Amino acid sequence: MQKIMIDLDETIVMDGYLKAVNEYKKTNYQSEDIDSYYVEDILGDEKEAFLDYFYQNINIYQDIKTLPNAIKVIKNLTNYYDVYICAAFVDPRRVLESKKMAMYKYEWIIKNMPFINPKKIILTGSKDLIMCDIKIDDKFKNLQYGYGKVKLLIDHKHNQKYSFEQLNSYNIRRVYNWDQIESILLEMRDTL
Ligand SMILES: [Mg+2]
Repeated sequence: MQKIMIDLDETIVMDGYLKAVNEYKKTNYQSEDIDSYYVEDILGDEKEAFLDYFYQNINIYQDIKTLPNAIKVIKNLTNYYDVYICAAFVDPRRVLESKKMAMYKYEWIIKNMPFINPKKIILTGSKDLIMCDIKIDDKFKNLQYGYGKVKLLIDHKHNQKYSFEQLNSYNIRRVYNWDQIESILLEMRDTL
């Protein structure tokens, strides 16, 4: 079976960091307002204080939204593909505190995706070293280099600066939702 590596944040779950920023600042930012990969960049000078607060108090995975149909589609894909969930957890700005993120992410995947073998959960800081046939991620740089015959970039405001030509030159295809991902991958499963 072909191996698929699927990112977690903003690929399966969404808006956790946005919600944390909004609760901290008593604001109501929407994902369309955020151009930066790191939502908290919008806080400017308050970012450091927010990160201290965030790592001491918040588990965004306790109550987090998922992209529509993400879990249902991934479950279906396990019938045809060897599916791995691969989440980065190392925050270079808070190296020691990052260990909590590994635990929170692992817990969320175990609880919400029981059809994924726990041995197929990869928590890392070096996604580019993981061998796979298909990659699905919202971060351009995670798809730009490394393995993958098929690379799907989930459309988000923060990655809209990359043009079709730029994506094409790295063999990356922009996708808009999980229903589309499902039809692409089911259609190509015999030809890969
Ligand atoms: Mg992501």
